Amino acid sequence: MNKPVAHSNLGAIDAAHHLHPFSDMKKLNADGTRIIHRAEGVNIWDQNGKKYLDAFAGLWCVNVGYGRNEIAEAAYRQMQELPYYNTFFGTTTPPTTLLAQKIASHAGPTLNRVFFTNSGSEASDTWFRMARVYWKVLGHETKTQVIARKNAYHGSTVAGASLGGMQWMHEQGNLPIPGIHHIGQPYWYAEGGDLSPEEFGLKVARELEAKIDELGEENVAAFVAEPIQGAGGVIIPPETYWPEISRICKARNILLVSDEVICGFGRLGSWFGHQHYGYEPDLAPVAKGLSSGYLPIGGVIVSDRVADVMIGELGDFYHGYTYSGHPVCAAAALENIRIIEEEGLVERVRDDIGPYFTEAWRSLADHEMVGEAVNVGLMGAVQIAADKATRRRFEKPDDIGTLVRNQCVANGVILRATGDRMLASPPLVISRSEVDQTVETLRNALDWLKDNRPE
Ligand code: PMP
Repeated sequence: MNKPVAHSNLGAIDAAHHLHPFSDMKKLNADGTRIIHRAEGVNIWDQNGKKYLDAFAGLWCVNVGYGRNEIAEAAYRQMQELPYYNTFFGTTTPPTTLLAQKIASHAGPTLNRVFFTNSGSEASDTWFRMARVYWKVLGHETKTQVIARKNAYHGSTVAGASLGGMQWMHEQGNLPIPGIHHIGQPYWYAEGGDLSPEEFGLKVARELEAKIDELGEENVAAFVAEPIQGAGGVIIPPETYWPEISRICKARNILLVSDEVICGFGRLGSWFGHQHYGYEPDLAPVAKGLSSGYLPIGGVIVSDRVADVMIGELGDFYHGYTYSGHPVCAAAALENIRIIEEEGLVERVRDDIGPYFTEAWRSLADHEMVGEAVNVGLMGAVQIAADKATRRRFEKPDDIGTLVRNQCVANGVILRATGDRMLASPPLVISRSEVDQTVETLRNALDWLKDNRPE
């Protein structure tokens, strides 16, 4: 057995051996890593015993909160009974099959099948191939192009990062791969100019139609978007946006893909983001809240429209992962969903803590440094403004967000910054007093910024 490592050494060991995702390793090794040891409810503790309120649910994922022994026990039981078996050669395992049924029961009447992956990124690669295969089987060989959005995030695999609209990601690894195109995002605050949010929502939705015209309808397979863009800064679309997108996809006969990796499993006060906005996707990648992050698992929810073709006419789909539908991850996910159902967490977000959070969070809109404070359910953004009246932003948005985020973390609340937007995505079990603490801490950080504004 390995000797236990004294905690005081972990920072040095980490610097010597561990490359972190999305990190400047030179800077991180110089600054030192925060080591998280344990967690309970909405709280986490670091190596110094300092407690933080995790208002970001890990990475948008710990929907049922930390410390759920029921999930640990379900995983333990499953691991003893059957730690692994594949789902490739005509086999399945009980939790895998029951999880597919459970997901379908919440996804909507036309979304009845699930293809399992280990992550959201793999779900992106999976639906991308499915969409192309779907049209090919139907005899539309040229329908291969996919339209996505600028500033979207769909993962870090080659297809995921290509579908995402982060230019700085594309610059690493010669992305995007061919056949992927990006249109504008419904970010009214930054890009809406003199238009009302409703006018702007329609305008950016119609960029989809223009792009389809440019590429030729006979060449376009699908459009993908997050119901609310998450990593891009919690970009909440104007009410006019989704109805128009949905209309265009139907009218032009292209598949609509709703990336539910963040919005799925209760965050918006609905089981899925498409239900909140009232559209019907053909494919819906999921991950994160599916297991509340307790074990890695994702998937693609497949509509009858696509499944009928894949089942009826394709033959083999040459795609799958060793751990597709892993029984232990599936057992953890089933238990996670049981908790969400039994504790009524979706309804809690819709009717109780969501409205409470809305009022508290949006009270920040009065602050001198805040351009807008917006949310749906427990997914919120505060836009930092250099000049509130003119919607002018600071010259170096990333620096401003980092300053405010660091203030919050120093004061015991974990929030995320994307550029000059402060993002919240707490566990769905957060209490009212914990919401108050989150908002007060952010307010104090904004006060600090007001007194220390760089300009
Ligand atoms: N899609 C969306 C909308 C996401 O937010 C993420 C992760 N942040 C992904 C896909 C990729 O998921 P993963 O990190 O599990 O690969």
